[in-house]
Amino acid sequence: MSDPAPPMIQRGLRFVRLGAAMRLLGFATGSMAVAASLHAAGTLGTWWLPLLLTALGWPWLAWRLTRDNPSLLKAERRNLLIDGVVAGLWIGVMRLDLMPSALLLAVMAMDRTMVGGWRLLIRTMLATAGACLLVMLFNGFAIEPHTAFATLLWCLPFMVLYLLAIGALAHYSADKVRAQNRMLEKVVRIDAETGLATRQQWLAVVAERLRRFQRHGAVSSLLMIDIDDLKQVNDTHGHLAGDEAIRQVSRQLHEGLRSVDLAGRYGGDEFGVLLPGTDGHAATDVAERLRLRVAGQVAVGGVPVTLSIGVAELRPGMEGIEDWIGAADEALYRAKADGRNRVSGASAGTLDVAG
Ligand code: GH3
Ligand code: MG
Repeated sequence: MSDPAPPMIQRGLRFVRLGAAMRLLGFATGSMAVAASLHAAGTLGTWWLPLLLTALGWPWLAWRLTRDNPSLLKAERRNLLIDGVVAGLWIGVMRLDLMPSALLLAVMAMDRTMVGGWRLLIRTMLATAGACLLVMLFNGFAIEPHTAFATLLWCLPFMVLYLLAIGALAHYSADKVRAQNRMLEKVVRIDAETGLATRQQWLAVVAERLRRFQRHGAVSSLLMIDIDDLKQVNDTHGHLAGDEAIRQVSRQLHEGLRSVDLAGRYGGDEFGVLLPGTDGHAATDVAERLRLRVAGQVAVGGVPVTLSIGVAELRPGMEGIEDWIGAADEALYRAKADGRNRVSGASAGTLDVAG
């Protein structure tokens, strides 16, 4: 079995396949309208074979040409331009029979605008006009815009079926865009490696908590947590072991916190934890519990992974999150300076030392 194509090629193929199906539907039903017009003018006998080739042959050829082309999108854009030329030729042959000509032009314009914007629309319309003029040059610029009632009826399948298909396609595309937006939002909010909040998301929630404190005085605390000597783990056991340590610590943080608390990956081996409704003393207890939990559960090569943690309660006079995070960071720095594997409060000294 051959390897599946890379996602970009698969997306391109899906686009081309959809384009081919729409082309077949458009040309098959559009040719009915053209056939009705030629029948009304009494010239269908001359044109039925080229028309059949247009209805089925061109969509098939376009699909074959595109499918095997290494540059899928470029080939499909070229097909869209050729569609315009083919439509222009038939508009000329119909001598500008008003209803089928207008319908062909309208559908063509809508399609091109959707796929390639104004540029493709203008290029296609120029190609259509050129092809139409060429045919008219041969038939002496004969124009018969009056549309017979039967032709009008035969325009209906083209109009109804093609518009329905475009509607379904637009709905399908909108669904996909919504799903992609949801995924993007998730990427912005959740750190892919650890499953914790991203720094950006975590900071946004911390800022919201600070605003609430400034309005209502609701108490909260922050923990800034850093893994001890991770560089040494990397150097001794390899970077993958370091990554695994970060993931395991993240899991312990997630499992060791209440659902209202928010742990985020602040960067590298540093984490931030927001503890809403928790004062400095209770936060210190939480920090100590997390420290013991990680030291007891996470190890690399038999050596426990330890954390240094700084605690800071939200205090009046803290004007921005930099003040609050800065206080917790300062405490963390002290915990590191005092020997690591410990919890340090913002203003108090070191609170605990592991054995
Ligand atoms: P300290 O006890 O002072 O925290 O020492 P440390 O070695 O942990 O150093 P520090 O926190 O200052 O720097 C973090 C180190 O962690 C730097 C880098 O080697 C490593 N690190 C940061 N992010 C990652 C990561 O995503 N994966 C791995 N494997 N290592 C990382
Ligand atoms: Mg570290």
